[in-house]
Amino acid sequence: MRALVYKERLRLVENYPMPQRKEGEALVKVLKAGICSTDLEITHGYMSFGGVLGHEFVGVVEDASDKKLTGKCVVGEINCPCRRCEYCKRGLPNHCPNRTVLGIAGRDGAFADYLTLPTENLHPLPEGIDHTKAVFVEPLAAAFRILEQVQQPLLEEAGKAALGPKAEVAVLGDGRLGLLVAQVLLLTGCRLAAIGKHPEKLGILSKRGIKTALLEELKNYEKKFDYVVDCTGSPSGLETAIRLTKPAGTIVLKSTFSHNKAGSVDLTPVVVNEINLIGSRCGPFPKAIEALKRGEIQVEPLISGIYKLDQAVEAFGFAAKKGVLKVLLDMDSGY
Ligand SMILES: [Zn+2]
Ligand SMILES: [Zn+2]
Repeated sequence: MRALVYKERLRLVENYPMPQRKEGEALVKVLKAGICSTDLEITHGYMSFGGVLGHEFVGVVEDASDKKLTGKCVVGEINCPCRRCEYCKRGLPNHCPNRTVLGIAGRDGAFADYLTLPTENLHPLPEGIDHTKAVFVEPLAAAFRILEQVQQPLLEEAGKAALGPKAEVAVLGDGRLGLLVAQVLLLTGCRLAAIGKHPEKLGILSKRGIKTALLEELKNYEKKFDYVVDCTGSPSGLETAIRLTKPAGTIVLKSTFSHNKAGSVDLTPVVVNEINLIGSRCGPFPKAIEALKRGEIQVEPLISGIYKLDQAVEAFGFAAKKGVLKVLLDMDSGY
């Protein structure tokens, strides 16, 4: 099969071995896949991963232990936990130290004709979500993860604004993830501002009624927000987020880097202002699927280009360019 392989360099391999489905897994024919910042970071050394890249996909199950899944159009959760360790038993499978992660750690990914995943990772798509939109389920689920982490009534008892209508919330960064996160936070009814560098990208959000601001106006926003979500993908994002956050406020960090470039951030204001720092990664697929189905999240304006798998290396070059949002790969599989 064809596969986009990263091993020291990125190349398309025409005769890559087919993945072998283990017991409890499904063999999925990939239809479309999305290139995300994590993929670009891996090509700069993030996770020291070598293999087939890609973790945002939609596909059709060709063969599975669970025969009901055969022929179904699916999206898939990317963490494959051991189900035996302490973290798995505590209900934190995404933190299983023995896990493999599709296209990121120990498991070949989705930029190929086929992939395998445990059947329990798969979510059949309901009617009304086309393949192109479905590619956004994985990153959209990561955006919904924020609500799982902060929207608890207990926060109000502790004197902190729950992430709801009373909260002042900023999304920092107008890239691929920031534009999804802002749309998810809008659903909470919070007082939302999206802050970024690119008027044309922020325009996608202002069309949806979201207040936007340019990074250069930052001075007007210092200590104005109960919640700041850093989606900048930049080492300077945390420092900016600290400046924007009210005392006793919360920063949610979504950016990951290939190197520890954030090493020199002054964390004293975090201590003095008792700011909560929350790291945030993968999230609930059913929430993301439902929101797409209801039309609550607009993903079409986020698509900058669709390339064939055979042009995957060029697609990566394009995805890394400034101003480019989501780039999709189409496996041209005849579906
Ligand atoms: Zn991703
Ligand atoms: Zn485990």
